[in-house]
Amino acid sequence: AQASRRLGVALCGLGSLSEHQIAPALQKTRHCRLAGLVSGTPASVAKFQAKYGVPDRSVYGYDDMQRMADNPDIDIVYVVTPNALHAEHTIRAARAGKHVFCEKPLEISVERCQSMIDACRYAGRLLGTGYRCQYDPHHLECIRLVRERVFGAPVILQAGFAIDVGRPDQWRLQHALAGGGALMDVGIYALKATRYLTGEEPVVVSALETKTDPVKFAEVDESMAWTMRFPGGAIAHCSTSYRIDGIRNLRVDAERGWFELDPAYFYDGNHGRRSDGIEIRHPAIDLFAAELDDFAQCILEQRPSKVSGEEGLRDVRILQAIYESARTGRAVEI
Ligand code: NDP
Repeated sequence: AQASRRLGVALCGLGSLSEHQIAPALQKTRHCRLAGLVSGTPASVAKFQAKYGVPDRSVYGYDDMQRMADNPDIDIVYVVTPNALHAEHTIRAARAGKHVFCEKPLEISVERCQSMIDACRYAGRLLGTGYRCQYDPHHLECIRLVRERVFGAPVILQAGFAIDVGRPDQWRLQHALAGGGALMDVGIYALKATRYLTGEEPVVVSALETKTDPVKFAEVDESMAWTMRFPGGAIAHCSTSYRIDGIRNLRVDAERGWFELDPAYFYDGNHGRRSDGIEIRHPAIDLFAAELDDFAQCILEQRPSKVSGEEGLRDVRILQAIYESARTGRAVEI
């Protein structure tokens, strides 16, 4: 009976992702329901309340999240605020006794990621990172192809994700709120994919950065390319940019063939092909519903999440090594 209970999720930060993806996805979950709102914008609260019927008693501001401790309707807080506010909001939720699912990147420094992990552990609550691609059947199929050595051991991986970031007046271009630019925001998908495909941690990274618009990208990285070596011998070369809606691929060249996804990181429509002519194409699923249902099941069944806080921290550590390499012009051991 426990396992069939729906867990109440409070959305913390009612911006674009919450409105267009997560709130609609919550309606499709089997183990969750939208039960609370945390926001600094009354108009957004009113819009969400009108659409989803969240009661006034389950609406909070960022500064009074501790009041959630008395609200049994809320089990999980989903943190969907700018990157550099994730620790503050996660720690407040954990102190109120809630499990926390936090959007990627987990935070902007290893220390802050660790403080989030510590706060959740101290509260006896689970921390998850919003790595939706690890629920995409196309990515799961690529993981299977590597694990089962269908084409032999991976030799070269290529992964890249670039978006045109758009308007100059947004938090994504402010270092204090974003912690970094394209690499932190979308390059992280390429990095993460190389880690879950190989099942290994990279040991050394070498990176280059370029800026064609130093005014717009005064505070954060615009375009980066980096190469990593994995202990099993594979090499990955990855790239990211905020300048173009361009690369969005994932490719593995292995001993006896290759496979690739292109596009690889979209909400839907991802697909790919293999060197033996077989297509990699699965029916679309809602990735946000899938990640939330899995997180809820981890809580209900008291098992660890594959997208744990520790996983989020590992990527942030590597992101920092990539930045260090670009800054110093040297390869950095991780
Ligand atoms: P938005 O700017 O659209 O929304 C962020 C929200 O955070 C705001 O609407 C606001 O909500 C709240 N907020 C609190 N303090 C601030 C502040 N000082 N400045 C700006 N906003 C603030 O961003 P997104 O929804 O696109 O991104 C949010 C998070 O989700 C990021 O960490 C991002 O990396 C991640 N993301 C993940 C994606 C995925 O596919 N997994 C895709 C897109 C984003 P309110 O007005 O309610 O207070």
